[in-house]
Formats: sequence, C-alpha cells, structure tokens
Amino acid sequence: MSLLEVKSFAAGQWVAPDANARIIENAVTGAPLGRAGNDTLDVQAMLDYARQTGGPALRALTFHDRARMLKALASHLGKHKQALYDLSFATGATQSDHMIDIDGGIGTMFVFASKGRREMPDAHVYLDGDVEQLSRNGTFMGQHIATPLQGVAVHINAFNFPVWGMLEKLAPTLLAGVPAIVKPATATCYVTELAVKIMLDSGILPAGALQLVSGGLGDMLDRLTCQDVVGFTGSAQTAFKLRSAPHILRNSIRFVAEQDSLNASILGPDAVPGTPEFDLFIKEAHREMTTKAGQKCTAIRRILAPQAQVDAVIEALSARLAKTVIGDPQAEGTRMGALVSNSQKRDVLEKAGLIGTEAERVFGDPDKFDVQGADAAKGAFLPPMLFHCADPDAAVRIHDSEAFGPVSTVMGYRDLDHAIALVNRGEGSLVASVITHDPEVAREVAMGAGAFHGRLYFNNRDSMKESTGHGSPLPHMVHGGPGRAGGGEELGGVRGVMHYMQRTAIQGSPDILTAIGRKWVPGATEKPAPAHPFTRTFHDLQIGETIHTAPREITLADIEHFAEFTGDTFYAHMDEAAATRNPFFPGRVAHGYLLLSFAAGLFVEPNEGPVLANTGLDALRFMKPVQAGDSMKVRLTVKHKTPRNDEYGEVRWHVTLTNQDDDLVAEYDLLTMNAYSS
Ligand code: NDP
Repeated sequence: MSLLEVKSFAAGQWVAPDANARIIENAVTGAPLGRAGNDTLDVQAMLDYARQTGGPALRALTFHDRARMLKALASHLGKHKQALYDLSFATGATQSDHMIDIDGGIGTMFVFASKGRREMPDAHVYLDGDVEQLSRNGTFMGQHIATPLQGVAVHINAFNFPVWGMLEKLAPTLLAGVPAIVKPATATCYVTELAVKIMLDSGILPAGALQLVSGGLGDMLDRLTCQDVVGFTGSAQTAFKLRSAPHILRNSIRFVAEQDSLNASILGPDAVPGTPEFDLFIKEAHREMTTKAGQKCTAIRRILAPQAQVDAVIEALSARLAKTVIGDPQAEGTRMGALVSNSQKRDVLEKAGLIGTEAERVFGDPDKFDVQGADAAKGAFLPPMLFHCADPDAAVRIHDSEAFGPVSTVMGYRDLDHAIALVNRGEGSLVASVITHDPEVAREVAMGAGAFHGRLYFNNRDSMKESTGHGSPLPHMVHGGPGRAGGGEELGGVRGVMHYMQRTAIQGSPDILTAIGRKWVPGATEKPAPAHPFTRTFHDLQIGETIHTAPREITLADIEHFAEFTGDTFYAHMDEAAATRNPFFPGRVAHGYLLLSFAAGLFVEPNEGPVLANTGLDALRFMKPVQAGDSMKVRLTVKHKTPRNDEYGEVRWHVTLTNQDDDLVAEYDLLTMNAYSS
C-alpha cells in the first residue's frame, strides 16, 4: 500500500513532504502508514502570511462575526466526521475514543461560538471589568480593555488528540481575532491534516487564518515577536527546551504550556464498598486507565484509597480491567485499542519499570495478554497495568513519573490530611478527583489541594448520572495546572480567549472611554433622542441617546396604596416611629420597588413598537431614601447594544432616578429586547 503523503499548508499552498520526511507508523499493525515533514518549508513566508493577510482579515470582524464563523466551521466539521473517524483508527483509537477527540473537539468549538455571542460584544474591543472611578468628579476614569494580538498563534500539539488538541486551541484563538499555525505531533498529524483540509475547503475562514505544519517547525519559534503566542501541549522536557530558548525569553513571548501531570483520584473516607460512591470510583478509575489506552493528559495515574479499602479497590478494579477487551480498535467488542506507536509503547514500559521499583504490579502483564483482531507483537498494544505502592510516603517515582499509557498505582492513606499531602506530591497537576458523598470532605480537599491543581472534580450518587468524567476538560472550565503540569491555563470560556489578546488599562474622560468601548459611561455626552427611544428600532438607537422625564411627586397615599396592593407592609414604609429608629431612614419612606415602578411609568412609551420585552435589570442600587412629599424624575440612556439573532438585539439602558434636589436616589441597568425593524 502506498504511503500517505501528509502535507503542510503554508502561505496558501499545500506542500508535500520532502526526501527527509519522517515515517509514521500504523499503531495497530506497526507498518509504515505515511510520511510527513519538509525541511524547506518557508516558515518566514508562513508567519508573514498569517500576520499580513490572516490577522487583518480576522481583526476586521467583530467577536460575533468570528463566533458565527466558529459555529459554521464546527457544523461543517460535524458533517465530515465519518471521514475523520475512519482515518483515526490507525492511531490506535477506538470509536469511543473518537467521540472524545473528534466530537469533543467539534463540541468545544460550538461552546466557544456560543460564548462569543453571549459573553462578548458585537464589537472589536472587549471590555474587561467595570469602569473605575479615578477622580472625585468623574471627569477622569479607567477601563480595562482587551484587543487581539497583531501576530500569530503557533500551536504545538500532542499526539493523543489530533482533532480536539487542535480545536481546543484554535477556537479561542480565532475568536480573539488571531490567525493560527498549527503543528500537530507527527505521529498522528495525518488526522489533523484531514481536519484542516475540511476546514479550509469549507471556505468559511479568511485567507491566512489557518496554516498547518506537518513535521518539524524549522526555526519558526526564533522568528516570533511579542505579538505572537506559543500554545504547547506535550512533554515537560520539550516544553522546557522550547520555552527557555533565549529568543522566547528575551522577547517575553507568551508561552502557554500544558505538559506532564500525575493526576490523582481519592476515594472518600465515606465511600466504603457497598456505597454507590465505591462503585462509581472503580468505574471512573477503569475508564481513565483504558480510554485512549491511558494516553490522556488528565488520566488518573495515582489512585488513593483509605488504607482499609486498598484491597477492595484492587480487587474490584482488577475484576473490571480483566473484562477489558484489547485489540484492533475497529473490531467488534474492542474496548481498548493500541498506543500511538511502538516507541511510545517502549516509553510506557520504561516508565512502568520505574514505577515497579517502588510498587508491586498487581494486575496486567505486558508479556502475557490477549489481543483480538491484531498482532500483539507488531501493533503498539499493552494491557492495563495496575500497581500497588505500600509506602507512598517514601516513594518518589510514583509521584513524578508519568507512564503515558494504561498504567496506574493504588496507594493507601491514613486520614484525609494524609490523602491531601499525597495528592499534592504530584507538584502541580491538571486534575484531581474526589468521590465522596460528604460535602465537608470536599471542602477540606478543596482548601488543602486546590492550590496544586487546575481542576478539582467531585462526584457522587447525586451527580453521577450527569457528570462528565474525571478526565474530560470542558470548554467552560479552565484546563491546565501549576508546576509539573506546565503552569498554563487553557479553555475556561472567555479566559481562554484572553491568551490571544492584550489587556490594556485605558484612562481618560467619559467621552474617550465611551468612544473606545462603544459603551456609554456615566458623565459622557448625552445625545438628545429625536423621538421617544422606545419608538426607535435597535439599529436607529445611538449609544448615549437620552431622555429625561418630567418629575412625579410621591405621596403618602401612594406608599400606602403600594403597601396594601403588594402586601409589602414592612415597618419602614408603614410605621413612622419604628422607621425613625432605623439608622438608614429619616422616617417612613417609599418602597424601592415603588420607585422602580413609577420610573417605568415615567419613561415608558405605551404603544406597540420595537421594544419587545423587558428581560432584566442589573446592578440596582438604592442610594437615598424618598419620603412622601419628595419628587422623582428619571434619566434613560442607551448604554450598550448587542445583536442577539436575526430579528432583535439586547439594549442595555442606563437608568438614574434623582430627587427634587438632583440627588441620586437609585441607579440600574435596564435590559430590553428591541426589534431591528418596527
Ligand atoms: P513531545 O513533547 O515530544 O511532543 C509534543 C509536541 O512538541 C509534538 O508536536 C512535537 O512534534 C513537538 N516538538 C518536539 N520537539 C520540538 C521542537 N524541538 N520544536 C518544536 N516542536 C517540537 O511529546 P510527545 O507527544 O512525543 O509525548 C511524549 C510524552 O509527553 C508522553 O509520553 C507523555 O509523557 C507526555 N505528554 C503529556 C501530555 C499532557 O498533556 N500531560 C500530552 C502528551 C504527551 P513531533 O511530534 O513532530 O516531534
């Protein structure tokens, strides 16, 4: 069979491998499958193409445009996933592994598409946090903004997730408005190549937004600038080598790393055999050892159980592991496929050997195991291997050596403090889990181990049906960890987008802040509304457009009527003597909700028009009490607009209520949905 010629996509052209290309093996048969790599790749042309063509095109789009682009890309990939599944079997992955890699990657892109639309503005500047009051009279204020970096993101990915690994970095990068050059691990780059081809062929991406290096990067990293970012997933050794290069350090080039991790799972002291938690623990540990043949950055490497339960855990887990059918990932009934390559298999055996110096192998023999539908001597197959370490305090290797395969070590703990101390011996990991039905156990672990872990996963009988699994990084939640895990942090919704943007503190007058952020800042110039704003469509409304209402007097009859009508007869509204004793009130006062209701009555335009619904009210504060005899008036200003769908968008109005002395009585943001046309 002819070899796959795995190409790169450089500066708008597909480039075939050259004579020095590396041979890629089929994980299942061990036979050569393809070739990748080209020493003559023009990496400067790639960087130029990204910076000069891709970047400007992406930055011309708003966050919402880019979010729509991600959604279209994800849908398009979804239509072609069968081709990706078919190709991926050669990496040793089973169909359920594909669901994590391919469907998981597409799902991640969908989540970023949705978050981009819901949590970011339909604009080019992202506002980070609230306006800061920097002066007494409000003429000088501050606002943090984020704008896209003007360079390129170079993504260096690991072999284990050729699709998810690319998409989980690509989605936040494109949403930020930054072009990407993706460099997958050579061992599985043929799957990434197909996914890139599918995306490029869709025509959805602007030219220069996505390029691919199959094989080595050449000296690309030496050509990066402070506007570029490196996103890395792989071994600690490679991460250290790349991030400590003088050029990277000298230019403070961002380097987001996700590397080795000795993840742990704790069986809670309450989760004794016979509880749903014990069974759940065994199920999760089994899944983490066998999914992707244990080649998952989040897999459980260390299994911690109360000393009294160690034998029960080994027995139950071994029984489950014994039922795991290993073999050709395409064969019916196979539960665990092959490792990615025979060199990876050798690496895992070497690391398992290290672990074996401190722990006894209690399940799985790499020299004696069954493989269905494939040749165990040729493919990169290994059985799950479970170790037991009797003295985890004295041991070192079990806490610092990552056997990146189906290998895990059980160890006993004396009490929860001991469990926390052991779990932290990983010196920084991506995830630790606790299976417990006791919320206080969870709290103790969160306080004792949170600082050492990027994610803590708790599961029990209440959440097990809907829980997503110890090993699943979710696009909504951060993925990364301190120390050995690389110190990086990916995903986590908009947090993950920020790696590709620069945060800048903006200081200036309210008009300056309003113009930059496209969000009205109190104190900025008000624009007189040409007609009542409720009669104007979403697109007609201008940021800063304002109306001031006539005043309305509040009477004692109003207060009493409101109290009777709503049932809110709280003493501060009804009992003069009691209200006077309260340090907040001068005497009986109007209900805050009465003032809000009157405010609506003052600013509303009652006829049918573009305002479709009032959907909420944010940041409400009552500043000054209002008594019978006082009067109030309202100022209503268009603060911000966000398109929501093809028919309407959200208008955020800034509302202030003032009294007869112009003192601020209340302030809030009102949210309405407004039609694009009347
Ligand atoms: P590597 O660190 O060797 O490779 C990771 C990525 O870096 C690959 O894309 C690789 O490309 C690339 N790379 C390697 N050297 C360079 C270089 N000099 N310049 C630019 N890019 C480079 O890890 P592997 O994927 O081979 O995995 C090895 C071990 O790493 C595993 O056994 C496991 O222990 C750990 N690992 C940990 C992960 C985690 O997230 N915790 C994930 C994956 C691996 P190429 O393939 O072309 O060499």
